[in-house]
This record gives sequence, C-alpha cells and structure tokens, in this order.
Amino acid sequence: MDFNDSPEEAAYREKARAWLAENAAAHRAKWGDVKPNTPEHMAAGKDWQATKAAAGYACITWPAAIGGGGGTPIQSVIFGQEEGKAGLGYGYFTIGLGMCVPTVMAFANDETKKRFVSPAVKGEEIWCQLFSEPAGGSDVAALRTRAVKDGDEWVINGQKVWTTGAHYCDYGILLTRTDPDVPKHKGLTMFWIDMKDPAVECRPIHQMSGGREFNEVYFTDLRVKDSQRLGEVGQGWQVALVTLMNERLAVGGSSGPNYRDVMKLARELAGPAGPSIKDQSFREKLADWYVQSEGLKFTRFRTMTALSRGQTPGPESSIGKIISANQMQDMANNAVEMEDQYGILSDPETAAAEGAFQQSLMWAPGLRIAGGTDEILKNIIAERVLGLPGDVRVDKDVPFKDMPTGR
Ligand SMILES: Cc1cc2nc3c(=O)[nH]c(=O)nc-3n(C[C@H](O)[C@H](O)[C@H](O)COP(=O)(O)OP(=O)(O)OC[C@H]3O[C@@H](n4cnc5c(N)ncnc54)[C@H](O)[C@@H]3O)c2cc1C
Repeated sequence: MDFNDSPEEAAYREKARAWLAENAAAHRAKWGDVKPNTPEHMAAGKDWQATKAAAGYACITWPAAIGGGGGTPIQSVIFGQEEGKAGLGYGYFTIGLGMCVPTVMAFANDETKKRFVSPAVKGEEIWCQLFSEPAGGSDVAALRTRAVKDGDEWVINGQKVWTTGAHYCDYGILLTRTDPDVPKHKGLTMFWIDMKDPAVECRPIHQMSGGREFNEVYFTDLRVKDSQRLGEVGQGWQVALVTLMNERLAVGGSSGPNYRDVMKLARELAGPAGPSIKDQSFREKLADWYVQSEGLKFTRFRTMTALSRGQTPGPESSIGKIISANQMQDMANNAVEMEDQYGILSDPETAAAEGAFQQSLMWAPGLRIAGGTDEILKNIIAERVLGLPGDVRVDKDVPFKDMPTGR
C-alpha cells in the first residue's frame, strides 16, 4: 500500500490547492454565505461548476474534447479531497455527472451525446435518476412503470419515488417495463426524458431534516421518441447496471462530524456525573469509533493505491459505505443524547457544534439506504467477495406478468 503521493501526484495536489485557494476565495467573495436549498444556492453551485469546467477540474477523468479534464482517476480523487478541505462542493451534480451522464455517454447516439454532455459538465443542465418505485427499490427490476410503443414513439405511464432533485432537474434517465411477458430483468428498457414535459409531475417529499430533496414523479401518457432510447429494447437492465456501478462509487463516502468532534464535545459538556469523556462506557465507544475510522482510512489508502497504479478498486466502496453510514448514525445518536435536553436544538446559531450532530442524525438513515441498503451491500460482499451461497431469488425465471402482486 502507498501512503504518500507519488512525485507527480504531489505536484498535481499542489497545483489543485493553489487553484482552489484563489478561486474558492473569489467564489465566496462573489456569493457570500448562501443558504442551502435556495435559488441562490443553486445559482452559486452552477457558477462553481462552470468555473471548474473552464479550468479542467470538472469531470477530471473525461476527455477534454467533451468538456472534461482529460486526467486520471487518482487526480480526480486528489482534487475531490482538496475541494472538500476548501469547504466547497455542491451536491446538485453528483447524480447527473456521477451516474446519469456516464450512462448517456455509454448508450446514446452521437447526436444526443453532443447535445447533452458538455452542458452537463458546465453545470448548465442537471440530470436525475428515475429508477426506484413503490414496488421496486432494492429489487428495482420489479418496477412497474410501463412504456408502450406507438409508431416512432413510446407512451409512458407510471410512478417513481425518492427521485433526488427531480424538481430542479432538466433531464432524467428513466427505467421502464416494455415487456411483461418475460422474466423481470429481461423486459426493461431505458430512456432519457425531459423533466419539464407537462406529462411529468413532481410531488415533493418533505424530510424530517426540513429539507426537500426527494420527489414522487408521475408520468401520464408521457410521449418520448424512440431516438431517446438508451440501449436496445429489453436491455434496460444491462444499461441500469452501468448506472448502478457508478452509483456505488459516487455514494461511497460520508461527510459530517468525526470521532474527534465527538471527543471534543465529550470534553466540553458536563452532566451531573461530570464530562462524558470520563465515563468508561463512553470511552469504549470512542475507542470503537477510532478503530473504525482508522480502518476506513487505510481502506481508502488501498483504493488510492489501486487508482494510482492504474488498477480498478475492489469492493471497498461497499464496505466503506456500510461502516461510515452506521458510524455516523451511532456517533450522532450518542452526541445528541450527551447534549441532553439541548439535543433537540438544531439551529446552528444555538445548537452545540453548530448543529452538526443533529444534521448527521437526520441524514445517516438515508445514507444507510441510498446506493444500496446495508443488507443489500452485505449480500454483495457475501456473494461476490466471500463467495458465500447466493440470496434466494425465486422469481428469477418467472414471466413478470405472472409474479404475485398481492392485488
Ligand atoms: C438519500 C436517498 C436518495 C435516493 N435517491 C434516489 C434517486 O435519485 N433515484 C432513485 O431511483 N432512487 C433513489 N433512492 C431510492 C433508493 O434507491 C431506495 O430507497 C433503495 O434502493 C431501497 O429501496 P426501498 O426504499 O424500496 O426499500 P426496500 O427495497 O423495500 O427495502 C426495505 C428493507 O428490506 C431490506 N431488503 C430488501 N431486499 C432484501 C434482500 N434481498 N435481503 C435482505 N434484506 C433486503 C432492505 O435492506 C430494507 O431494510 C434514494 C434513497 C435515498 C435514501
């Protein structure tokens, strides 16, 4: 395992740091302290994305000819680390550039790629992923949104759920069922769609955090051209696998307070029995979080080493997400409990640690579900890493129309 940057990586990091120091400061001076989930925040995010694209720091691994940076995966990781340290990073583009546009690049015709890739890199247009449905989440191949061919068009009816950003996105990739007579994985087809089409209705889902990032999305006789198809008819599952493979990489890490922040809080807050840092059972927990954090750190080094040597990383991102999301939830639970009645405060102005633990308490459950739930990731690790027997899949060869629905 390599713990240090190679001379070329160190030089790239230095260059990225210098660029960030100059441009992040200019960005902050221009936009000030914009509040998340506001139109100003979105505008600032688009502006930052455009600034990065102009300098070759957006989509670093994509060819320069389509607006990318023409760089390597390790450079992309290094820039991401430095951008994180600079405290900048807007979430609006993660799904589009991490999952949807790579799928478009892999399966769309040249005209579509020419039209959409560059505006997405520059942050001018944002994409969402329309896969999950009430009847198809972990088992997304059980989805029911139906696309029926009508001449040179397809007519789409159905519903998606948990679609991040659907309300502000311009385009989306949509997985549909085109043939119910074959087993569930074989009758699917993928399309790209215009989210502003009047036949697409977004209904917001309000979250316990006060945010509004997800939507239910309804399609009522949405007509799309056959040229909007991504991949062959009936090959939607293969197309979706490309998106999902990218999703595991994009959702891998977690931000938020770490074990050092909990330790600081435990030193500062004193209950009737004194500060929590003196409590033996709390100290044991702290030791567990420290060990987990070190394990995650070295696992990340392993990923970095693989990328640095031009290899494909292994299943670390699945392991990393399970550990980091559960750790985040556990630390936040303990920190908020430690704050006692003040734990109910979440306003950064009044809450301890500027409400960071309250934020992570409300975000952690979502992180344990997004991009594969804990249980699904454990199945993947069991089957693909440890070689254990596969999960029971009784409906694998059953035509979709014959699957029991409970109705
Ligand atoms: C933050 C966030 C963002 C999201 N963004 C998007 C998005 O942009 N687009 C999109 O399409 N979807 C999105 N989703 C939806 C997400 O993909 C699904 O929530 C996820 O796949 C789980 O599906 P489900 O919610 O239907 O739960 P279910 O699949 O119904 O699972 C319910 C429970 O059963 C368990 N379970 C299911 N199958 C198995 C099994 N085989 N073995 C053991 N246990 C099992 C699960 O682990 C879970 O505990 C998002 C979700 C979150 C939380």
